[in-house]
Amino acid sequence: MRQLLLIRPKPLADELFSSWIVRLAWANGQKLHPFTHKILGLTSRIWNKDPDRGVPADQIELIATVTGISTEVIQETTLSSYAKVVLDGNGRQWILPIGHRARYWMRPGLQICPVCLASDAVPYFRKRWRLAFVTCCVEHRVVLIDRCKQCNQPISPHTGDYKSKILRDEFSWVLCYHCGADFRQINTFPATNGAINTAKYLINGLVDQWIQIGERSVHSRLGFDGLHVLCRMLCSNTRSRRFAICVSDGMGELSFPSEFMTRKQSFEELEVTERHRIITMLNWLLAEWPTRFLWAGRRARLSKAYIRGADSDLPYWLSIEVEWELDGGYYVPNEDERQALLVYLERLGLSTAENNLRRWLGQSYVSGHKTSDPLAPRGKKWPGYAKMKSRDRIEPL
Ligand SMILES: [Zn+2]
Ligand SMILES: [Zn+2]
Repeated sequence: MRQLLLIRPKPLADELFSSWIVRLAWANGQKLHPFTHKILGLTSRIWNKDPDRGVPADQIELIATVTGISTEVIQETTLSSYAKVVLDGNGRQWILPIGHRARYWMRPGLQICPVCLASDAVPYFRKRWRLAFVTCCVEHRVVLIDRCKQCNQPISPHTGDYKSKILRDEFSWVLCYHCGADFRQINTFPATNGAINTAKYLINGLVDQWIQIGERSVHSRLGFDGLHVLCRMLCSNTRSRRFAICVSDGMGELSFPSEFMTRKQSFEELEVTERHRIITMLNWLLAEWPTRFLWAGRRARLSKAYIRGADSDLPYWLSIEVEWELDGGYYVPNEDERQALLVYLERLGLSTAENNLRRWLGQSYVSGHKTSDPLAPRGKKWPGYAKMKSRDRIEPL
């Protein structure tokens, strides 16, 4: 039977699982590695993964036994507590990736508010700082920080313990494990009102489990799924780039200045300042939903098929706007329209071939120079034409 720990600090408001476990170890005068394995009795190598994404139920039981904290409260500190609200099937949507390599975090998967850390009686890391749509502190109205400003390393509270031979105190984890810079002293920038509004509105959606979108109240899961599609459209370098430019125009601002690394940039992989900008644009769209979305979508000539992407089902609150309002590019003419066109073309003595019909109906068709015989070119000449011997050429009539 495992004994209760002598010192058992409770998880603080919205505290992240990894933050609480490190605090628990240090409060009991233990280094993190032996504490995790010998005292908590955890068998999985939790620090070699992303411990905040969720810990198996039997491991949570072990922690509950030595801390006297209920399994429900412990479960609530992990990101799996968002499963019913924001996560998709593979549990990655909206969660910032840490890109772990063994126990090191290679990506900026944890953000901080320097002002929160400076004003905490006991500094600690919040669960919401792992969410991609939270780009600012709603209390202090500043943009969050996602890297050490001095050495550019990701913020990773447990790494300081592994890097140090001596036991650290609870204030040492507000120092960068790599260069020792104090996170509490980092200069911050004021957040936009739009990003603050959206962060408040979505954080409330996490708690209330429903979100108001235009005139509809939708379940948070459906709300977050659709908002993720909008964020993907706003940060993509593909055809929806035009959509983002139209939104910037509508906001009366210059278009988004960043060139993303890939054509299909994941929202969660962007730096906090880029996500802050996109969340501000999202706020503009939602402030007059669906009017502004439809205005920008029409200007950008987006179709339903394009917005849906390859595999995603749009939630109904977004789908209904796209189906009814943006689907002009996929209209299929009916049989009466085809027959009327046939009569018209015959009367004028024009071709009634299927390819020509499709061309007149505004559907996809093969243009003239591609259907023509290369030996009898019309319009553009095929590339090999110039190389042919003149006696083999048949000049067009
Ligand atoms: Zn703050
Ligand atoms: Zn640093």
